[in-house]
This record gives sequence, C-alpha cells and structure tokens, in this order.
Amino acid sequence: MSVLTDRFGREHHDLRISLTDRCSLRCTYCMPADGVPWLARSTMLSTEEIIRVARVGVEHGITGIRLTGGEPLLRVDVVDVVSRLTALDEAPEVSLTTNALRLPALAAPLRDAGLARVNISLDTLDRARFQQLTRRDRLVETIAGIAAAEAAGLSPIKINAVAMRGVNDDEVVALTRFAVERGYQMRFIEQMPLDGGHTWDRVQMVTQAEILERLSAEFTLTEVASRGPAPAELWYVDGGPATVGIIASVTAPFCGSCDRLRLTADGQLRACLFSEAEVDTRQILREGGTDDDLADAYRRCLAGKKAGHGIGEPGFHQPDRPMSAIGG
Ligand code: SAM
Ligand code: SF4
Repeated sequence: MSVLTDRFGREHHDLRISLTDRCSLRCTYCMPADGVPWLARSTMLSTEEIIRVARVGVEHGITGIRLTGGEPLLRVDVVDVVSRLTALDEAPEVSLTTNALRLPALAAPLRDAGLARVNISLDTLDRARFQQLTRRDRLVETIAGIAAAEAAGLSPIKINAVAMRGVNDDEVVALTRFAVERGYQMRFIEQMPLDGGHTWDRVQMVTQAEILERLSAEFTLTEVASRGPAPAELWYVDGGPATVGIIASVTAPFCGSCDRLRLTADGQLRACLFSEAEVDTRQILREGGTDDDLADAYRRCLAGKKAGHGIGEPGFHQPDRPMSAIGG
C-alpha cells in the first residue's frame, strides 16, 4: 500500500469529510448572520460517492475519518454514512465534530453504527451569550446533546471552544471546570481567519499564552508529553487524569506534523484549511473515473500542499470558503 505522502515527507492518515455546508447555528466566527449561499444539492456528493472517495483514501493509508461540516448531523443519512465507513475493509476510526443539537436523537444510533467519539462545540455556559455568539437561543439543547453523547457511551467527549476577546475569554476557567467535573476534555481554539464575514483581526485574537495565564491562575497545569500529529497541546489539570487542551493554530502552528486532508461536501479535496487550490473528485466520480484516478486526485492534492498555512505572512489570503463550507 502506498501511503499518501507530500513533498515534505508528511504522511497523511486523517481525512476530514464535510457532510454538508448547512448549519443550525450561525456562530459569528464561522458564518455571517444570513448564512452563506448554500451548495446546490446536485453538486453535493451522494453517500455512495463519499464512501468511494473515503475507501480509496483508506486503501492508501487513511486510518482516521472525522465527519464535519457545516453541521454533519443535518445530513439525513449520517448514520448510514457512519455504518458504511466503519464497514470498510481496514475500517478507519470514525469520529464526528458537531454542535450537539441533534445528539439526543442520534447519539445512540451513531454509536450502534460504529462511531467512536465526538467533539462538541460549546463556547459559553451563559444563555444570553450563547444566543449572541451563535445567533440562536439553543444552549439548553446543546447541553442536552452533550449529556446524550455521554449516556450513549461516546467517550472520550471533547468540548471545543473558540476563545474570543470580550465575548467568552472570561469563561476559560468555568468551561474547564464544567468539562473536568463531567470527565470531558476541554479544548480551546485560537480563532482563525475563516469567518464568512472576513472580520478576523489578529490583534483581537485571544492567544494560547493568554488562555494559559487565565487557566494557571486557577489550576496547576502540567504539560502532557508527545502529542504526535494532534493539533491540541495538552496539560494535566491539577495533577490529572483530566486534561485541558489548546489548539494554537495561529501562535504555535503545528503544520510540520500535519497528517490531515479534507473533502468538502461538493467533492473538493483540500490539503489544508487555508488551501487556495482544490482537486475535484466529483468530476472524476461522475465521468466514470477509476479508483486509480481517485488515488491520483489525492496525490495531486498533496503535491500542492504547502509547508505551512502562512497566516500573518505577506501574501496570505483568507480562503474564499468559510469554515462551514470547508469542514473544520
Ligand atoms: N458544526 C460543527 C461544530 O460546530 O462543531 C462542525 C463544524 S465546525 C466548522 C468545526 C469546528 O470549527 C468547531 O469546533 C468550531 O468551533 C471551529 N471553528 C469554526 N470557525 C472557526 C474559526 N474561525 N477559527 C477557529 N475555529 C473555528
Ligand atoms: Fe455551525 Fe459549527 Fe460553524 Fe457554528 S461552528 S456556525 S455550529 S458549522
């Protein structure tokens, strides 16, 4: 088996598949208030097509698949997608990133379909803030979704929060406590320039250093050694076993060990969140292409992968697609 390797020698084992660009929330760091022009249904990959692209990836060394979006649980056949992915030969570990709103209905069927675990986005524990931040009054449902994931045994549960100045940066300790008390892992994400409204401002960004300072005032943090290709750097909280993570994509990029590829809901392979180039698998799929043609699409995608995302460097250009249409 030939592993998908780029020109810098990075082997790629992780595929993020966006199941839809649609979403039930409108988080300010991701989507504009009115949403974005949705992908036309006809351009979106069918389940059959997704499974085929994924299978070719698995045959070339992909061992982990994360389903994302938009909101992946809005895709009506999400349970079927999971069961077909986990039924592949050399079955990959399948996980999912979600806003949790549909987990009360779907957590148990997803577990039964073979889903290994979930990452859940929760940026605040305050209802008014949640409404301001996501532009929807749905905090109570989100918390219920997290509980449903736990009840279904989808562990470990990781909770993701994008830290934002003057919005939720004063909740870093409260969110960590919420997670630690329930046996979840809290992870803070530095905000990246991927919002649909193109309003990201580096000066306003809450950095890893600031998050650590706030956490250290309340907890004893001890660094966990060796994170491998994982984006989050981890610290034991008060001696462990609970850990808290920070994904410092901007101030401490981890591109050198990146093993990730992305497939958008309309079938475009991307080597990086910030890629300007995409390789079209949909055309290959719909024009009778072979599995070798798909494997070649993966290779062409990786051939253009840059050493790093380049945020902050001269010439950096925010991708035209917002995060919701790439798949985080
Ligand atoms: N809807 C699901 C959710 O919110 O978990 C899955 C898709 S969402 C795009 C995936 C992750 O990307 C979430 O954890 C979200 O917080 C994160 N995200 C979105 N926009 C971001 C940005 N501009 N910077 C950093 N993280 C972002
Ligand atoms: Fe939707 Fe997730 Fe983007 Fe929020 S971060 S708008 S939940 S896709």
